[in-house]
Amino acid sequence: MTRVALVTGAGTGIGAAIALRLARDGFAVGVNARTADDARPTVQAAEAAGGRAVALPGDVSDEDDVRRLVAECVDRLGGLDVAVNNAAVQEEAPFLDLTLEAWRRQLDTDLTGVFLVSREAARQMAARGGGVIVSISSVHEHRPWPGKAAYCTAKAGVGMLTACIGRELAPYGIRAVAVAPGAIATESNRRPDDDPELRAQVPARRMGRPEEVAALVAWLADEDAAYVTATRIVMDGGWEAYGPAV
Ligand code: NAD
Repeated sequence: MTRVALVTGAGTGIGAAIALRLARDGFAVGVNARTADDARPTVQAAEAAGGRAVALPGDVSDEDDVRRLVAECVDRLGGLDVAVNNAAVQEEAPFLDLTLEAWRRQLDTDLTGVFLVSREAARQMAARGGGVIVSISSVHEHRPWPGKAAYCTAKAGVGMLTACIGRELAPYGIRAVAVAPGAIATESNRRPDDDPELRAQVPARRMGRPEEVAALVAWLADEDAAYVTATRIVMDGGWEAYGPAV
């Protein structure tokens, strides 16, 4: 039977790469983005690769949107086996100037959005005998980043939420894992591989690629990873463990 995956924030960057990889691996994929127009390029790329995908527009920080889009995923694709929390926003502001609005925008999407999607997905999975929830966090779960207090705090929350979900939902056959990437070359975050700062900080001496994050998610989604839950996996070219502090 075709397995079904939902990927949030999948119109661009890492989310688009994950959706495409899962479609190539034979998943029917629900492509969430804020709007149907934003989701369309990924849906088309998945179809062009021979896969099946549908656009599931909605704001992950809105409870009604999340209920609707998860239900629509199940109705249109026939179930929900894997949910990938990828959507996030990141804003820069010195802490002394960080507004409550900016704090809320980031916490609402980057942490509450993960809670809402995980809960709705888990309800479906629990009723169907299990599933996998993968949340894209960041090395900044653990690594402070001046000017990004809200983003880092949200990502730290994603790490603990994942551990809690993994423990609590194991009896339902649900696994939960956080993937913590380092510097990944996307449209919105690209530096040349010969950037001196990058080469000094990252032992692998290059940025990671969205396809590499997607490959890790694909493995976690598979039965090969059946013993991996309630934990985080860092993919950062050695940056967190060995790189000098920024
Ligand atoms: P990106 O901005 O291309 O992707 C984020 C996507 O989420 C965008 O398409 C955006 O429109 C969507 N989104 C934002 N708010 C949303 C909402 N409320 N509802 C639905 N969709 C929403 O950036 P990316 O680099 O591909 O990041 C993807 C994930 O990877 C994020 O969770 C990010 O924190 C994480 N990450 C990225 C890097 C990196 O170096 N690129 C490193 C570590 C972690």
